Amino acid sequence: MKEFKAESKKLLDLMINSIYTNKEIFLRELISNASDAIDKIYYKALTDESIKFNREDFYIKIKADEEKRTLTVSDTGIGMTEEELENNLGIIAKSGSLDFKQELEMNSSIDIIGQFGVGFYSAFMVSKKVTVISKAFGADKAYKWESSGVEGFTISEAEKDTVGTDVIMEIKDNTDEENYDEFIKEYGLRDIIKKYSDYIRYPIKMGVTKSRIVEEGEEEKVESYVEEETLNSMVPIWRKNRSELKEEDYIEYYKDRHFGFDKPLKYIHMNVDGTLSFKAILYLPETPPFDFYTREYEKGLELYSSGVLIMQKCSDLLPDYFSFVKGVVDSEDISLNISREVLQHTRELKAIAKKIEDRIKQELENMLQNDREAYEKFFESFGKQLKFGVYQNFGMNKSTLQDLLLFYSGKEKKQLSFKEYKENMKEGQKYIYYATGDSNDSIDKLPQTELVRSKDFDILYLTDEVDEFSIKVINEYDGVEFRSVSSDDLGIEEDEEKKEEIEKVTKENEGLFKDMKEILGDKVTSVIPSKKLTSSPVCLSSEGEISIEMEKILSHMPNNEQVKAKKILEINPNHKVFDTLKDAEKNDKDKLKLLTGILFDQARLIEGLPIEDPVKYTNDVVELMNR
Ligand code: ADP
Repeated sequence: MKEFKAESKKLLDLMINSIYTNKEIFLRELISNASDAIDKIYYKALTDESIKFNREDFYIKIKADEEKRTLTVSDTGIGMTEEELENNLGIIAKSGSLDFKQELEMNSSIDIIGQFGVGFYSAFMVSKKVTVISKAFGADKAYKWESSGVEGFTISEAEKDTVGTDVIMEIKDNTDEENYDEFIKEYGLRDIIKKYSDYIRYPIKMGVTKSRIVEEGEEEKVESYVEEETLNSMVPIWRKNRSELKEEDYIEYYKDRHFGFDKPLKYIHMNVDGTLSFKAILYLPETPPFDFYTREYEKGLELYSSGVLIMQKCSDLLPDYFSFVKGVVDSEDISLNISREVLQHTRELKAIAKKIEDRIKQELENMLQNDREAYEKFFESFGKQLKFGVYQNFGMNKSTLQDLLLFYSGKEKKQLSFKEYKENMKEGQKYIYYATGDSNDSIDKLPQTELVRSKDFDILYLTDEVDEFSIKVINEYDGVEFRSVSSDDLGIEEDEEKKEEIEKVTKENEGLFKDMKEILGDKVTSVIPSKKLTSSPVCLSSEGEISIEMEKILSHMPNNEQVKAKKILEINPNHKVFDTLKDAEKNDKDKLKLLTGILFDQARLIEGLPIEDPVKYTNDVVELMNR
């Protein structure tokens, strides 16, 4: 007996002991696997002339035996070799990542089943024992995989004449709480298949019991007989007319294809005709897949050529910044016999990709205008990806994307687009102001924002790491430049009096500012009286290309520790601490050193920068207390 891999064991255990009420979905999962397996052999047959085939040879068969309480799902797909049986059914395909394991631990079984669509193992929700007999395409031997649960599985040689796979389930006995009979009865199975698998493009056949009247001598008698019927309509959803379909149909298909474990936020059904024809169904998910913001995530749409699946994830159909879109594309203008390498360079694929991109953009703009709530939900999930998109490739796509961005407004206390910000700008406001920080709360308290706020100008809050990088790339929106509240020049007209006051303070205290700069050495480029501060004592600002926020982000990346912002220490000349400084300058140089060090460290703390030497800082504060 072989053991299951650890995560599989856990998942299997969840399945066996599942209290999930929607157990019938196991059939959808098995039929979907069967259909994928047929897709694979069908594609081979169409592209390899040495294989003889008939369309009728590809089907899925369902067989129930009420006496033995077994249910069999058979397919004429590509089959599995001995090794594949072990690898594919011994571990969960989608499980590799750590996140999934963590999800397993965190959530209840109900969430897992609902969210992930657990594939083959769901058979164990309804079965005591599962046997898989499979013969792989091109193999001469068939193999049997058997398991009764978490203890493990066995693999042995088996008899099977034709290529394909049979999944045989011994259905659980009924208990006081649960009745499993619908999974071995014709009518139950029929309903489930119609409900979840109607769109499967291969016939799902089942023997259906019917009755007829026969004449026996003089008498007429009712006789029952079994006739094989195809239970599904086989028309893929994208081939149907929009008018025939309901929202539920689109949602069901999304789940069926495992596009996401959430409900899609929006779907788009495209039907393009002309020099280039294709049909597509695109989905905007509501929440990011668990691996979305990792390297493992693969973007792409399912690509069909006249109804034949040629690629599960065609990445060339989506730009990176729309990588969250899921769905399917079917075009008769894409040749079946084309290699994947050549495919990506074809004019047709590029043209389809362009149309899809335009349509997604249009849908997002539409949502932003007409369904703000949905858009904000979308943006919370995928806004970061759009911001990356702006920043990537030196801003090549910024004009496509900038109107889709939202940032939190300090004044309005809600998300605004640049357009909305601009419309709300005050008379005499020269720039679009932004402030960076870890959270909206921390930016609310940022001393640097005081002057801008005092003029009643709005400030956009940048709290994602990528934010400031994208803003720098955008540079200006509709003729208005962006400006950080920490920047040296805020473009705010000083009244003459204030300007004179600052000049006066600078002149009168030349010695003090020079001394303080000397004490801090190359930690700052200068120490100046602040124009921005109204109530806080100190803050840091920066000059040049690298802002303090960027320094923070870059310091987390390898080899970038050396990148530092050019910092300016600003002192509020109207704060009491300024008098203390002046006094120390005159009478107690040691105290000035102490104060300068402490104020600088405090300014760093406000910015969210670490203090270089925390022990020295606390010692200094204590010394000041005891002076
Ligand atoms: P998923 O289908 O999401 O990959 P499953 O656990 O349902 O996950 O199946 C694991 C793998 O086992 C599949 O990816 C496929 O390679 C293989 N498999 C399952 N069922 C069949 C089948 N009927 N025919 C051929 N291969 C199958």
